[in-house]
Amino acid sequence: MNYRELANKYGTPLYVYDFNHIKEQFNEFKNAFKAKKSLICYAVKANSNLSVLKYLKEMGAGCDCVSIGEVNRALKVGVPKYKIIYSGVGKRDDEIRDALKNDILMINIESEEEAQRVEFIAKELGVKARISIRINPNIDAKTHSYISTGLYENKFGVDVESAKKMYIKAQKSKYLTPIGIHFHIGSQITNIEPFCEAVKVVSSFVRSLKSLKIDIKFFNVGGGVGIDYRGEETINIYDYSKVIFENLTGLDVTITCEPGRFLVGNSGKFLTKVLYEKRSSKKRFIITDGAMNDLGRPSLYSAYHDIEVIGSQADVSKADVVGPVCESSDFFAKDRELPKTKHNDLLVIKSAGAYCFTMSSNYNTRAKVAEVALINGKDKLIRKRDNFNDMIQNEITCI
Ligand SMILES: *Cc1c(COP(=O)(O)O)cnc(C)c1O
Repeated sequence: MNYRELANKYGTPLYVYDFNHIKEQFNEFKNAFKAKKSLICYAVKANSNLSVLKYLKEMGAGCDCVSIGEVNRALKVGVPKYKIIYSGVGKRDDEIRDALKNDILMINIESEEEAQRVEFIAKELGVKARISIRINPNIDAKTHSYISTGLYENKFGVDVESAKKMYIKAQKSKYLTPIGIHFHIGSQITNIEPFCEAVKVVSSFVRSLKSLKIDIKFFNVGGGVGIDYRGEETINIYDYSKVIFENLTGLDVTITCEPGRFLVGNSGKFLTKVLYEKRSSKKRFIITDGAMNDLGRPSLYSAYHDIEVIGSQADVSKADVVGPVCESSDFFAKDRELPKTKHNDLLVIKSAGAYCFTMSSNYNTRAKVAEVALINGKDKLIRKRDNFNDMIQNEITCI
């Protein structure tokens, strides 16, 4: 089915994901790491649709979760508990309790206070919590500042010195078992250097921990491998695994990876229809039925998404592609060379598989859109479009 037919069948705006592409990306990743013990835990926040999770689970993926909601999604589609990791700087008591009750592989600790909380709750439950500690190696991932996470000015993880104290303390605790170490320095990283530096720092730290008899079994390199949005150079996944292997020589660890964007980003397309064109004295605007609440990366990060017009390719000139939301940050592209469009022409916004639907909201009381999977040439609805009632069902009129 082509884009036009999909738009007619399901309506617009619409997300379409090519599951075969997800499979190719997953297999490429898996093959790059198959020479060593490894566990690939998909970063659920990139695209948490249950069908996406189930599909990856069937191929053997685990899940990296950043809320108990994501842990529950993983469990719901049958991801084995021993393949689920729970990360994040701010976990609530009830989230920690549920994670421990569900006996997931490990909780990733990001502060000293969090370690104390987990210990306290584990004691209450009478269990021993398996933990890893997230190291902030103070390395510049050279990506957009909003998605850089491995610098001391970022809120994530703890420095090596604090981590050492935390490991020693955890090792002595009756309610904690330190089994892993973790870092995740940022997202959409397109240069291998920051990864090399981080792996060096963290692997040498693991060696010093082993000499203290703290037995790190899981070496978690996080996610962050970038994808091609506009023809940029990206990291070769075999170079990436090689750098990791080289630094872990002689260490008996399972390499844990948390790719998100790499697996799903380029599987997705966002289909949106042209409502109108208009021109001011300064600009040409293409106004679409999709908006920033549906796909927010351009407004949030000034991210670039390739746009294809399905229709006539004539009369190309610069245009801003904008949505109906009442914000000037509601745009998909600025000053983009695009053909003249007319009412009901279809635009295909590329690279919309990661951090697009999952970041969508009901702002302006706009219904969240539908999602469709393409599997072996067949289209399947994997999320219904919200209706008005879905949006107001939890609200209470008290007057
Ligand atoms: C977001 C996140 C990831 C995934 O990042 P990608 O850039 O999508 O690969 C992995 N690990 C952690 C802890 C994260 O927060």
